[in-house]
Amino acid sequence: MPKAERGLVIVYTGDGKGKTTAALGLALRAAGYKTKTLMLQFVKGTWKSGELEGAKVLYPNFEIRRMGIGFVTWRPKRPYKEHLEAAQKAWEETKQIVASNRYDIIILDEINNATRFNLIPVHEVVNLIKQKPERLHLVLTGREAAPEVIEAADLVTEMKMIKHPFQKGIWAQKWIDF
Ligand code: ATP
Ligand code: MG
Repeated sequence: MPKAERGLVIVYTGDGKGKTTAALGLALRAAGYKTKTLMLQFVKGTWKSGELEGAKVLYPNFEIRRMGIGFVTWRPKRPYKEHLEAAQKAWEETKQIVASNRYDIIILDEINNATRFNLIPVHEVVNLIKQKPERLHLVLTGREAAPEVIEAADLVTEMKMIKHPFQKGIWAQKWIDF
């Protein structure tokens, strides 16, 4: 039987919608117990999103902080070097926050994208998982989780796209997507 105080490593990955939403749902549920949950959002730093305002309603039980300098695609708007420097700084901060043991749950939102774009080395993420405070629940989201991260996790759910409005040319919707 697992010990009650053992924090889980949870991964939400896959090409379907719902990874960040699942992590937000988990934070909402935990807030009901007055826990302290922190979501660190990687990569999508400049995107507007409702959860930033929504989280304020749940403060201090839930908090969201943005890391990095915005969305990195295969054709980033800013030089890759700038993204890399920002990501490295964000990662150093992340390690300190995790080690501080001040949170019950930490969500690294879109961290899988940060590793996919080589902004953060996969082995760093695996080390963080291995060295995290034992009681901490750690959640990692983003498409294409690295095999090493999947291996190190306790719970992995893959969101599989069956249909997405995007296929009909319907763009991201306020409330639903951001
Ligand atoms: P959400 O934040 O809505 O839970 P997500 O975290 O699973 O989505 P991301 O990869 O972070 O998905 O993508 C964020 C945005 O891309 C959302 O607006 C979402 O609707 C959209 N999206 C997710 N899956 C797909 C898909 N298969 N095709 C097109 N757009 C998608
Ligand atoms: Mg997401």
